[in-house]
This record gives sequence, structure tokens and C-alpha cells, in this order.
Amino acid sequence: MPITREDASDAPVVLRLDADRKRRFIAAMADRVIAHADELSRLDSAIGDGDHGHNMKRGFEAVLKDVDSLAAMRLPDLLKAIGTKLVMTVGGASGPLYGTLFLTLGKVLPEEPSRAESVAACAAAIAALKARGKSEVGQKTMLDVLVPAQEALAGGADGDTLKGCAARSAEATVPMMATRGRASFLRERSIGHMDPGARSSSLIIAALCDEFVES
Ligand code: ADP
Ligand code: MG
Repeated sequence: MPITREDASDAPVVLRLDADRKRRFIAAMADRVIAHADELSRLDSAIGDGDHGHNMKRGFEAVLKDVDSLAAMRLPDLLKAIGTKLVMTVGGASGPLYGTLFLTLGKVLPEEPSRAESVAACAAAIAALKARGKSEVGQKTMLDVLVPAQEALAGGADGDTLKGCAARSAEATVPMMATRGRASFLRERSIGHMDPGARSSSLIIAALCDEFVES
């Protein structure tokens, strides 16, 4: 059975992924990012240096290449391995930031997390990303998607709600002025464009949510 949710009266609901489901989650995330690489680089061309899609594609191709060995690992180890791969292969500002996100999830999540443990792990991963990027919500970055999505998860949102929240949050970066990252060099001229990192975060969240809904 791919995913088991234990609903026994007083036991917490627990997420249990077998190797096949782990493989499908990793592939879903990687395929989505790779399929949108040109779009992400186009967004980055408007307010950055045009490499975000290709950076992310390089990283997720490296992840995909090892999908079978990653899927055989325990959840914390596979998340840490993805984080390390992203740090080593994505580059730019986003590589260390996404790397930190996955590395922290791997450090905090147990093999079979409850919903409360997943919520807490996402909060810890976002805190680590903020520390690494010296950034906060409202600066037109990936945090403007990750933070509201984490808050929706904490509030009990289901997959579709979470996906909608991530998509709307990425759209909401359009009128923002960037005050972190390369786009901040443009000051007012960064207004009117979606942040590429916000878009890649919404794509990753959507891919994971779609995989949950299908399961
Ligand atoms: P680079 O800007 O070095 O070319 P990328 O193009 O791969 O790196 O990634 C750019 C994205 O990284 C931005 O769209 C933004 O979402 C995110 N980003 C950049 N700096 C920060 C930061 N300090 N904190 C959070 N996110 C950031
Ligand atoms: Mg860039």
C-alpha cells in the first residue's frame, strides 16, 4: 500500500511512504521543475540574470538521475541527499536556499511524520532559509510562496487548497518591489513581474499536492 494514514481513534494520522511512492514524489517534483525551466528563466530574464530555470533544471536532473537510490532511503536521509545535491548543482542564490530547505526538512522530519510534525518541519525549514538568505516575507522572493503555504498547511488546508494558495501567492509577487536578491538591484523596475523563485516554489508545491491527491 503506497500511503497509509492511520486513523485509529487516538493515534495521530501518520504519513507512510513506501519506496515506490517516494520515487513518484521525487519524480513529480523534478519533472514539474524541468518542464517549466524555460518559463522560470524567462521570468528571471525580466528581473534577474535569466538563469533560474536552467539552474533548477540542472539540480533536478541530478536528483532524477539518482531517483531509485534516493527512493530506497529513509525519508530524512533522502531529503538530506536532495538538499546536498541542490546545493552542489543548482548554483546561484537559489541553490543554497533550496538546499537549506531540503536539508532542514531531512534533519527535522521522522520517517513517518504526523501532520503536526510535517507542519513543524516546514516551519523549521523556512526559518533556516530565512537565516541563510537574511530575508523575510514581503521582499519578493520564494518566501512569499513558502510562508503562506506553510501557514495554510498549519491551518489544516488540503492539497487543492494548498496548491491554490501557492499559485495565488506567486501571482501576488507581481506588484511587489524586490528588496532581496538580484531583482532588488532594479528597485521600482522589479514591479510588474512575477518572482522566478516564487514561481518555482509554487510549482514544487503543486507537484507534491497533485501527487497526494492522486494517491
Ligand atoms: P541568482 O539570483 O543568483 O541568479 P537564481 O536566479 O537561481 O539565482 O534564483 C533567484 C531567486 O532566488 C529569486 O527569484 C528569489 O526568489 C530567490 N532569492 C534570491 N535571494 C534570496 C534571498 N536572500 N532570500 C530568499 N530568496 C532569495
Ligand atoms: Mg538568476
